[in-house]
Amino acid sequence: MTHIYNNPDNFAAEVLNGYASAYARYVSAVPAAGVVNARAQRGLTRVVVGGGGGHFPWSAGFVGPGMADGAVMGNVFTSPSAEQIYQVIRALPDAASVLFCYGNYAGDVLHFNMAQERLRSEGVDCRSVQVTDDVASAASGSEGQRRGIAGSMIVYKIAGAAAAAGGDIGNVERAAGRANERTRTFGVAFSACTFPGREKPHFDVAPGTFELGLGIHGEPGVRSAARMSAAELAGTLVGELVKERPSDASGRAAILLNGLGATSQDELLVLWSGIAPLLKDAGIDPVLPEVGEYVTSLDMAGCSLSLCWLDDELEDLWLAPVDTPAFRRGSPVVASAETDASSAGKPVANAPRATKGPSVSSSDDAGSDAVRASLAAMLDAVTKAEAMLGEMDSVAGDGDHGVGMTRGLRAAVDAARTSGRTPELLRAAGAAWSDRGAGTSGALWGLLLSSMGDALDAKTVIDGAALSKAIAHAARQVQQVGKAEIGDKTMVDALAPFVESLLDAMGKGTPLGAAWPQASALATERAQATASLRPRLGRARPLAERSVGSPDPGAVSMALCLSAVAPVLKDCN
Ligand code: ADP
Ligand code: MG
Repeated sequence: MTHIYNNPDNFAAEVLNGYASAYARYVSAVPAAGVVNARAQRGLTRVVVGGGGGHFPWSAGFVGPGMADGAVMGNVFTSPSAEQIYQVIRALPDAASVLFCYGNYAGDVLHFNMAQERLRSEGVDCRSVQVTDDVASAASGSEGQRRGIAGSMIVYKIAGAAAAAGGDIGNVERAAGRANERTRTFGVAFSACTFPGREKPHFDVAPGTFELGLGIHGEPGVRSAARMSAAELAGTLVGELVKERPSDASGRAAILLNGLGATSQDELLVLWSGIAPLLKDAGIDPVLPEVGEYVTSLDMAGCSLSLCWLDDELEDLWLAPVDTPAFRRGSPVVASAETDASSAGKPVANAPRATKGPSVSSSDDAGSDAVRASLAAMLDAVTKAEAMLGEMDSVAGDGDHGVGMTRGLRAAVDAARTSGRTPELLRAAGAAWSDRGAGTSGALWGLLLSSMGDALDAKTVIDGAALSKAIAHAARQVQQVGKAEIGDKTMVDALAPFVESLLDAMGKGTPLGAAWPQASALATERAQATASLRPRLGRARPLAERSVGSPDPGAVSMALCLSAVAPVLKDCN
């Protein structure tokens, strides 16, 4: 279990504070968002990495000359928000071109894409490479659907070296993309991790077994196997990776044998002593292999083997000097005249976290109280269901859905406390939810509220008809951005039938106060019915079979929220 913590909600923020304080010679803190390289050289393409907390030293530990210029850190196992990502870029001394490099998870993709659009609109040349190294998470042929795990360290190293060599954004993107294409990882868990403040681990590894094909967010493995010796484990790890040897592979490879947080270096070295000869037998020549705990999952015991099939260019980049708190090699040359440590991290150091959207006017309209009351009712319902939603998300996801929903909703309630017209309150609440809730659900709920605000902006009268049309518009936005269809086992399975029922009833002249509970009852029924489905999107997809029999947490929380609003609207037409 995790022994050292204060308020579990502040765990990730305190990790960041501790890190920035201990390694101030390397990094400057961007409060509540991440860190930037304190020795960032002007004029280079910026490589910025990021993801959820709980994985130290990944990824903030890799900030320094020769690797990343910035790292954005979300809450434990939760993607950072678009706002946090934006703040980190704006804390860099100059950022004309930025390559974002991060693991392929729905929440991260949504938030990095939102930040990227915002930065592009401000003239920054932004590109992204999503790491997809985990062979257990999707079959060969569907590499683009795979999630990113420990092999991301190799990809970040290669991207950072390309940038440090003066590569323009196109070159850095190409090098990172090629490194990702040629990197594969397979992992195994011996015991699960426990969130700070929780008594029980995320999932159980049955005595005498290992979980093969683990995720690094406390997701269980894709299959169990009887406990094996170090030699047998070495054979399993190498065997899974050599299966996907590219036809043009030279045989030279960057290798990372990674511990998951509670695996001793001695054990990893015992394992390496079995892996090295097997690699040789397979015609693989390891180039400066690394053995250690680099990409962890809190206190999870387990390990993974990553392999990047090198070509000449990738090999040069893998060998290039790097100097970060967690990974050092050779002596990178940092031209002091071009360095701007004094300004790195400073511009926003004391700035309050901005919430996007227009400033709130002083005059309320009739809908403003209803927005506040609805959000409060949703928060009440979700708080009561927090543990249940977390457990539901642990079945095939990362267990953070309950915590993420309450954190996002609490921020939305706070943001709506100020006075303002309905559209403005909805937009402010949406921006706050996205920022504080983060993750997939934070991004999509944030979008749902903000889009409702946009749709209501032009209305002079906000009545049932306007509200139902606004929800329909917002639900379409959620489907467009998240790309989920009905039946994919997501929140859309509750939201889409809700909208259809609401529009249908309103079209027949039913008042909103009566149409809403009917529609939310249908959403509840459909959310429960997702139990029989296999997830086709999101974090639960790689563990689709485990998910069958348990409803989708995002659909259940959607139905809970919609039902909680019914009493607030009971007298509305
Ligand atoms: P994360 O998966 O990032 O940990 P949460 O646990 O907060 O985020 O939310 C998970 C929920 O998000 C899922 O149960 C599902 O309902 C929803 N979800 C995942 N992917 C999508 C998508 N592409 N479109 C709509 N909803 C999605
Ligand atoms: Mg989750």
